[in-house]
Amino acid sequence: MDTYDIGVVGGGVMGLSVLREAAAAGRSAIAFERDHIGHPLGSSHGPARAFATPHLMPELVEPAGRAGAIWRELAAHDPEIHWAQGAMLRTARPEPVAAALAAAGIEHEVLDPAAVEARWSGLTLGPGAPVVHTPDGGTLRADRVLTLLRRLAEDDGAVVREGVTVHGVARDGDGVVLETAIGATRVRHAVVAAASWTPALVAPLGIRVDACATRQTVVYVDDPGARTLPALFEEGDPSTYWVSSGDTTVRLGMDDHRAPAPEPGTRGEPDPRTVEVLMDHVRARLPHASAAPVGLDTCLFTHTGGRFVIERSGPVTAVVACEGRGFKFAPLFARELVADALGVRS
Ligand SMILES: Cc1cc2nc3c(=O)[nH]c(=O)nc-3n(C[C@H](O)[C@H](O)[C@H](O)COP(=O)(O)OP(=O)(O)OC[C@H]3O[C@@H](n4cnc5c(N)ncnc54)[C@H](O)[C@@H]3O)c2cc1C
Repeated sequence: MDTYDIGVVGGGVMGLSVLREAAAAGRSAIAFERDHIGHPLGSSHGPARAFATPHLMPELVEPAGRAGAIWRELAAHDPEIHWAQGAMLRTARPEPVAAALAAAGIEHEVLDPAAVEARWSGLTLGPGAPVVHTPDGGTLRADRVLTLLRRLAEDDGAVVREGVTVHGVARDGDGVVLETAIGATRVRHAVVAAASWTPALVAPLGIRVDACATRQTVVYVDDPGARTLPALFEEGDPSTYWVSSGDTTVRLGMDDHRAPAPEPGTRGEPDPRTVEVLMDHVRARLPHASAAPVGLDTCLFTHTGGRFVIERSGPVTAVVACEGRGFKFAPLFARELVADALGVRS
């Protein structure tokens, strides 16, 4: 039976971040992905995710700053993974967010809507709440990030097995056996990073994780100012967000609490009602954008009650990158998980 120091279940941004950290620390590491890296049935695919340090939960500001430092490290290997065109949070309560940014030493400013419109022509906020702006935020080019994490891990000797489902995670002496259709692999430590599929895999080991998924709809529009458009999260009912995903394209989504649970093995259909709400938002905010979507997609949103889950029991760690910020935090928590829980230093 093959033996590795670390075995990872799941090849999304979380699993690949762990794989990369473990390999960089000089550990033998293997990851199993039941589909292929970058497939569209999970949470990590597509051209863009937002990186932002302003948060409605001020306690997330400082770790977001540390995550930013790791993204800059990764961007040294591929500068195109991160575009720092800025990020904005629009909220009626900017004070605690600005205070947390100041405490973390993160450059920021609070701007009223007129100041935003003067600085970014082609963006119409209208009257209402101010925004907290940070220049260091912007776009993480998700597909490119997955490719980079995999390459860096493989360069350090890690193995990626695609199209291989892990059916069971079982304790075996002081290690763990990962069971798959192509055989069993023994690892000293297993990291289960399988998003909303994690709870079922770790429950037999007595590890309890609360996580479930909804299928969210994502809309893409063309906008001539996309390349310099800051990412925007706008608190509201519903809360909405956008991030530039290319030279001319903007990706938009919203916190849709009524989104359906995913059906296994299918990406489902985009929800027409969500598309309508998001296109109304585009018409109000981005007057130069295309009148119709240039693309639609779905993406699984993993609900954990707002908590980034890291549960360790002996040689098994379950990790769930949660909700609308899991991508940007994945490399930070992977580093902490590998360094502290697994007892290695990168
Ligand atoms: C619409 C939307 C917008 C978002 N926007 C942002 C944003 O702007 N910024 C941000 O930071 N985050 C954002 N997120 C969140 C972020 O995308 C996710 O938190 C992150 O991608 C989760 O990564 P993951 O690796 O945990 O999950 P996944 O990418 O789903 O990876 C889990 C993998 O495990 C595999 N798997 C499952 N079971 C098994 C098994 N038994 N054996 C082998 N493999 C298995 C799956 O195939 C899957 O590939 C957004 C999410 C959504 C849905």
